[in-house]
Order: sequence, then C-alpha cells, then structure tokens
Amino acid sequence: MGSTIIRNWDRTRSWRPRATYHPVDETGAAEVVRQGAEQGRPLKPVGGALSWSDAPAISADAMRFDRMARIVEIDAGRKRVRVQAGARLSSVNQALAQHGLALDNFGSIVMQTVGGYLGTGSHGTGGRTPILASSVTHLRLIDGLGEVHELDDAHEPELFSAARVHLGCLGVVTEVTFQCVDAFDLEERLELVDLETALADLDRIVDDNDYVKLWWLPYTNEVQVYRFNRTDRPRTRKTFNERLDASGVSSIAFAGLMALSRTFPGITPRMNRSAQKISFKPRVRIDRSDRIIRYAGSIPRHQEAEYAIPRERAATAIDEVRRAVLAADYRVNFPMEIRFVAADDIPMSPVSGRDSCFVGAYVGSRRWAGPYFADFEALMADHDGRPHWGKSFSRTPQELRDLYPRYDDFDALRRRCDPEGVFRNSFVDRVFPA
Ligand SMILES: Cc1cc2nc3c(=O)[nH]c(=O)nc-3n(C[C@H](O)[C@H](O)[C@H](O)COP(=O)(O)OP(=O)(O)OC[C@H]3O[C@@H](n4cnc5c(N)ncnc54)[C@H](O)[C@@H]3O)c2cc1C
Repeated sequence: MGSTIIRNWDRTRSWRPRATYHPVDETGAAEVVRQGAEQGRPLKPVGGALSWSDAPAISADAMRFDRMARIVEIDAGRKRVRVQAGARLSSVNQALAQHGLALDNFGSIVMQTVGGYLGTGSHGTGGRTPILASSVTHLRLIDGLGEVHELDDAHEPELFSAARVHLGCLGVVTEVTFQCVDAFDLEERLELVDLETALADLDRIVDDNDYVKLWWLPYTNEVQVYRFNRTDRPRTRKTFNERLDASGVSSIAFAGLMALSRTFPGITPRMNRSAQKISFKPRVRIDRSDRIIRYAGSIPRHQEAEYAIPRERAATAIDEVRRAVLAADYRVNFPMEIRFVAADDIPMSPVSGRDSCFVGAYVGSRRWAGPYFADFEALMADHDGRPHWGKSFSRTPQELRDLYPRYDDFDALRRRCDPEGVFRNSFVDRVFPA
C-alpha cells in the first residue's frame, strides 16, 4: 500500500489516492474490495492511467496491477494465452511471438494493461477485424462485494459478454484469456493520396486490404493511406527515417514544431505541409505484425477525442470535419486518424452491432482542444457517433442511452455487480447517473 500521485498520459489529470493497493494475487485483491464495500469507500482499479477521459479517476483508493502482470499460460495447441490483467500488451505480444502466435489486433501503442485496454473498448484497425475484446474467451472478475466470478460463454454468459468492455465499473478484472492466431508478418504500403479521391474510394481501400489506416494532416490536400497486408516475403531492413522515428528524434522534432505552432498559430498550415513533405514519403516495409501498425517512436503529448460512426457515413463525416477545421479560428497541429473496425455483440462496445469507422480528432494544444472537440463532437453526434471511452467526450447519459440499445441492461448488471457503488467515480457518475 502507498499513496503517490497518479497522472494520466497527457498530464491533464492527476489524483492523489488516499491509499494505493498493489495486490500480488486475486485473494489479496478480493480482500481489498471487500473492505472497500464494508467501509463504503470507493476503490478504482487503474491500469496504465493512459486514458484521456476520467475513466480511471480516483476519488478515494486506487488498485494497481504492477504485481499482477504475468503471462500465466500459453496453450500453443489451442492458440490461447492466459494473462493477468496488469500485463502490458507489449509483453503479451512478445511472449506470443516467442511461441509462434499473435493477437490479430493492433492499436497505435502497446503500453496499455490488458484490464485497461478492454475496459475502454480500445481498438486497432481493419475492416474485417473487431476490437480486441472480441478475442476474449475467459475472464476472472471480482465483483463489488469481493466475490470472484469465472466467466465465459458457458458460465454467467450475460456478465461475460458485458465484462469484455467493462468500463471499470463491473469489478476488478484479474485474469483474461485471449484466442490468438498463428504469428504473421505484414507489409505496409504508405501512399499519399488526394484527400477527395481517397474519400471517394474509401470502401475499396478498406475492403481490398487486411488492415488500413489514414492520417490527414489538416490544411494539406493529401492524406496518408497506410495499407497493411499479410505476406511471406522477407522482412525489410530499417531505413534511416525509421531509425530516426524509433530513436525518438523525429518525435522531439515534431514536438518542437507543435510548440512553435502554439506560439505562432498562423504557421500551422505551412508547418503541417512541410511535415508531410519531410516525414511522410511513400514507402514499403515488412515486419512482424505487432511491430508494424503501432507507432514505433515516442508520441508527443497531445489531446484526443475519437468517435465510432457507422462505416457508411465515414466519407461524409470526415469531409465535414475537414471543412469545420478549415473554417475555424483554432489550429490543428496533429494528424486526424481514420480507422475501421468490424461490428461485435458486446453491450458497451463502441462498435456494438455496426461496422464502424473511428474518426480521431487529435491536437497538440490544450487551448485548441476545447473548441476543436466541441465542433468535432457536434458533427459526430449528427452521425450517431459513439465516443471512445478512454478519450475526451461530453455526451450526456441520455444521449449515451440512445446510442447503446443495451445501456439499461448493462446498468442493471452494474448495479447487481456493485451494489455498494465501490467502483463509482466521476466517469461512472456521468455515464450512469444514480
Ligand atoms: C498515446 C496513446 C495512444 C493510444 N492509442 C490507442 C489506440 O490505438 N486505440 C485505442 O482504442 N485506444 C488508444 N489509446 C487509449 C487507450 O487504449 C485507453 O485509454 C486504455 O484504456 C488505456 O489503458 P490503461 O491500461 O492505461 O487503462 P486506464 O486508463 O488506467 O483505465 C481505463 C479503464 O479501465 C479500468 N481498469 C483498468 N484496469 C482494470 C482492471 N484490472 N479491472 C477493472 N478495471 C480496470 C479503469 O478503472 C478505467 O475505467 C491510446 C492512448 C494513448 C495515451
């Protein structure tokens, strides 16, 4: 137990817990939950605290999982991995690669804990690939009374289904089993495509490739289209630019440019165009699947809001955001990211019941984040956008209820799992008001 300050990734939120628990096993974690329930003291499970939203906000005690971060078992025959909830995705990927296996799902970073990644419904990209939570086959969860539930399709299936995207409010996740696939390599093709052409061609771009993401640097006319496809061809050697990215030099340079644009907002359009010319040249490279879609270097601190909209609305919605940015007083000095995810059946998953496009509005300025995200969220609302739970959003409970057909079922389950409100915090209060 300790009580140091906990800050989120972009340092816009910080909390000083009354006590921070670091249990070494499930029994110890359950005992802490039981005490919280008996004494009416809130307890927040916290993963990497990477979320921009207040999902991990701590109002009294915190529980962290640095001592529950083991890869418990790899079943090569069934292609499954069982991990403790505090394991970082980086160590899961590494362990799987050593056994010729992989997760078929790749976000931009691998620093998240398994418990936190699932909790916010975090996602990668690929029109045929759902979010990682869809690959979960078993979960162990301590409810708000300290009872342990072993969950899968056959045991408490309703709770199992919901707990895959648990929003940190059903209980403490202690262990997760994922269905994996055989390890594979991907070829990345990066091309600069005229933005209007890319939007007109979006469906084909997504359907013709295993994984796709697009980055648009505002005020430029071209969009960076990244296509990723499985390959057996030899891995490529790292180029000078890739080495610069990996060393962190590019990130420092970009962070410097972002600081300059905050001081001299007028230079942002020119700065973005120069950055595109210098850093985003067409290229082809081949590497292990989990190493190629994620960002290789360190990422300069910035703010993010991201929404999942029905895939068929993507081109229209992206064009509307582009127009709003061009007409605005604020400046946007970070790429907008566009990814695609297949539908699932998880109650509070942002892609529940619909193939989706995730539109990410990112900006390296706290001052510009306010007006940018307000415009962005208004546009996303017009397209029935569902917010990423781990990023900035301001949807009301009624709006969320309208967006999620099983919102009431989840809330009822939440009340059953946590009758004393041990896991409530500002996030839970604003998503499911009492
Ligand atoms: C630089 C950067 C890049 C990112 N890239 C992506 C991306 O590509 N795709 C994407 O979808 N998201 C992305 N995110 C968002 C990120 O995936 C989510 O915010 C994720 O939840 C962070 O994981 P974490 O371990 O830090 O969880 P935290 O932020 O600590 O917690 C998230 C939620 O999970 C709960 N929680 C954590 N552990 C447990 C547990 N063991 N049991 C019960 N509840 C728990 C917390 O209470 C909280 O509600 C990115 C974030 C950053 C900072």
